[in-house]
Amino acid sequence: HHYISNIDETNNDINAVVNYDRDEIIRQAESIQKKIEDDSAGRLAGMAIGIKDVICEKNKKATCASAILEDFESTYDATVIERLKKEGALLLGRLNMDEFAMGSSNENSIYGPAKNPHDPDKVPGGSSGGSAAAVAAEYCTAALGSDTGGSIRQPASYCGVVGLKPTYGRVSRHGLVAFASSFDCIGPLANSVADAATILEVLAGYDDHDNTSSSRAVPDYREAVSDPTSNIKIGVPEEYFGKGLDKEIRDGIQEQLKDLENEGAELVPIHLPHMKYGIAAYYILATAEASSNLARYDGIRYGHRADIDEVEQELHQEKMAIQEQMELATGDKKMELSKELETTDSALVRLYKKSRTEGFGQEVKRRIMLGTYVLSAGYYDAYYAKAQKVRRLIKQDFTQAFDDVDVIVSPTAPTTAFDIGSKMDDPVQMYLNDVYTISANLAGICGINLPAGKHSNGLPYGLQFMADTFEEEKLLNAARLVE
Ligand code: GLN
Repeated sequence: HHYISNIDETNNDINAVVNYDRDEIIRQAESIQKKIEDDSAGRLAGMAIGIKDVICEKNKKATCASAILEDFESTYDATVIERLKKEGALLLGRLNMDEFAMGSSNENSIYGPAKNPHDPDKVPGGSSGGSAAAVAAEYCTAALGSDTGGSIRQPASYCGVVGLKPTYGRVSRHGLVAFASSFDCIGPLANSVADAATILEVLAGYDDHDNTSSSRAVPDYREAVSDPTSNIKIGVPEEYFGKGLDKEIRDGIQEQLKDLENEGAELVPIHLPHMKYGIAAYYILATAEASSNLARYDGIRYGHRADIDEVEQELHQEKMAIQEQMELATGDKKMELSKELETTDSALVRLYKKSRTEGFGQEVKRRIMLGTYVLSAGYYDAYYAKAQKVRRLIKQDFTQAFDDVDVIVSPTAPTTAFDIGSKMDDPVQMYLNDVYTISANLAGICGINLPAGKHSNGLPYGLQFMADTFEEEKLLNAARLVE
């Protein structure tokens, strides 16, 4: 009731929750209540968890904030949803996001932008903007988001909440609508590190439906946060504190680090020299994967389909026009027109094109075109293959650094939340938001955003810890120290 009344009060403005059914929530709550009474409720009993609209829940819409999936309902539960349900979580509803998780501001959405609860003129970040805003506005205890290049951590930073991106493969992607399959990770956004740890423990673990999920045993993450040790080595990469970072954020994080040092942590200056190529490599590899993943939306099997009658009529009219010209033409011209008639797209091809033209938004189209380009013959080696090599170098930087340190610290984003509308005309400016988060996805390591302070502009900002693959315990331990 608490969460429902908060949603009633402010969601019209904040626009974080895009689909929910209050009667069903009450029914869920009553059934969980019974289980609590019988002592059969699980580890998440009573936790209300909102779900980013990119994760499938049986018999519920999963639109990915796209017109192409506007009426799509999932026929099955994602593995993470199954696991949440089994542990007694209350699934609160579907949360706003950037279309197909492409964006850093939650402005690319058929539902309209989600807004930052700290200041509704500002973006909540993206692409899990609805998830971060819903947690910050207290519409739910926690939320699931997905992080391909920073989409959990950056909005968590802008909204002042905890956001955890697990190691690639730690959590099953089965039922997560694919953006860039070698990057995508599901993880929690929450108000505390302990909540994030508890949810991660439930989500993590091998899944038969995802052959990239890891079969490593799932540690007791709650234990890892219960009694944190400050006796750790924290790598401080110079490259992450340079030009482009807001001065107050830099100073604020430096101050936090001093406190940690006083408590017994050792600060180790380190270098991650290839991070400067991160954005370029990411936007080549992620768009390449996206262009392939998004080929499935053809308007035939599911999703938006353009009006077939209209398509056939257009085709008919075009053919008639060519035939009329042919009757008047002679010689070469006639040959040319006859060729045109022969090679004109069939109704089916036109239907694909029109469905996709109508169904995808501008940013998604941009990514499909970029991705198709970098994969095309003649450009593949120059872009895709080269970006793969850069990815390897970035991974090596981290592997070397983690030989010496337990975790690495950095800002999560270069600034606090920006004005809605201010970066929509400049995709490169938008992409630069991901500068500190993207490397973790390229390397497959884990990362977490923690609220680190309030800027003089009144908005929250975060700091990020990163830890090596499958070192979530170290990550959570460090996180608890600054909480
Ligand atoms: N902002 C990045 C992008 O637009 C990251 C998105 C994500 O992590 N899903 O691709």
